[in-house]
Amino acid sequence: MLLVQKYGGTSVGSLERIRAVADRVAKAVRSGAQVAVVVSAMSGETDRLIRLAAEIAKRPDEREMDLLLSSGERVSAALTALALREIGISAKSFTGRQSGIITDKAHTRARIEKITAGRLHKALERGEVAVIAGFQGITEDEDVTTLGRGGSDLTAVALAAALKADLCEIYTDVEGVYTADPNIVPEARKLDKISYEEMLELASLGAKVLQTRSVEFAKKYDVPLVVKSSFNDMPGTYIVKEDEEMEKVLVSGVTYDRNQSKLTLLGVPDRPGIAGRLFSEIAGSGLVVDMIVQNISADGKSADISFTIPRTDSRKGVEITKRLAGELGARGVDVKEDISKVSVVGVGMRTHSGVASKMFKTLANHGINIMMISTSEIKVSCVVDSKYTELAVRTLHEAFGLEKAA
Ligand code: ADP
Ligand code: ASP
Ligand code: MG
Repeated sequence: MLLVQKYGGTSVGSLERIRAVADRVAKAVRSGAQVAVVVSAMSGETDRLIRLAAEIAKRPDEREMDLLLSSGERVSAALTALALREIGISAKSFTGRQSGIITDKAHTRARIEKITAGRLHKALERGEVAVIAGFQGITEDEDVTTLGRGGSDLTAVALAAALKADLCEIYTDVEGVYTADPNIVPEARKLDKISYEEMLELASLGAKVLQTRSVEFAKKYDVPLVVKSSFNDMPGTYIVKEDEEMEKVLVSGVTYDRNQSKLTLLGVPDRPGIAGRLFSEIAGSGLVVDMIVQNISADGKSADISFTIPRTDSRKGVEITKRLAGELGARGVDVKEDISKVSVVGVGMRTHSGVASKMFKTLANHGINIMMISTSEIKVSCVVDSKYTELAVRTLHEAFGLEKAA
């Protein structure tokens, strides 16, 4: 039995927590498993490092950021290996490079291209626990890269695929995947299982319990995945292939994302080619657009085009849109950052109608105005004022009957 266990920031947040992780790993080793452990930086550490960089540089260089950020996970890996050795378990820590995690050159959001993992295989064969610093890799030119926020999940899933592990266990600070963020909705219910598709939607729509890319990877390579608490021995949530029983569930979760900004190009002449021009410039700068809405003025001569992009790209988006506004003869650019995207997700929507209308009615009944809407086969998302985030998530959770069985 080969296990990959990943421990997130809170789970390695103090020396006491690291000792608890070592005890859990020791239990698996003593039961006869080979164990590769992936660790995150101690909680708050990655944010602290980002703040340090922001104090010393206006626009910190991304290559330097990656070397800086990779240090957080190295500290946890070495401390975890030391804690294991202290209780008589032979263990060795490895950086991303020593684990053979080769990525592309996209600093701060690199993609894994291949994993050689030679040293990990050898350590595991010798009966050692391999403790791997998550969130990082190395380019062919040997520059350190990181895998995007939450990227230790991806390290774990990708290593589980490369090592052909029997199971990848993601240990975190909640007992699994819930019908909504349990820290916002106390009535949220833990799911025993969820399909890769639904998990992918939940993750990409803001549920940070698993990083989106890690779910994509797990789905593509059929990595058996479970999310559990590092604080107790509850069974957690299994991420599985869709089955017939699941088809009956109309909505399986409600989620939110506060990290978006809404940009509006005001009063652009209504003629062919404007949207094409705007969005090819935006995409050309590497910005990922999520929702788009166009409103034509009453006289039909001009239009307002609104779209959302990640909040962190707001400044870049505004620069591009302002420049285009000048060139296209638009009236101006409006930016709104205090927005939030609230979504309901469920595979049952494929075969049932009425989810969107119920969502709109529920929001309206609570006086929440909808600024933008987008739908796909298995989700409906609405952009609302960020001050209504919690209210919207809670009331939708209730309206779709997702709370704990009494
Ligand atoms: P880690 O540091 O272990 O990677 P994260 O903070 O990245 O942990 O992810 C766990 C958090 O995800 C939880 O504390 C919870 O607030 C949040 N979360 C958001 N949506 C959900 C959901 N649907 N189910 C469970 N947790 C969720
Ligand atoms: N430490 C990184 C972050 O905070 C990676 C992770 O925790 O998965 O984003
Ligand atoms: Mg995480």
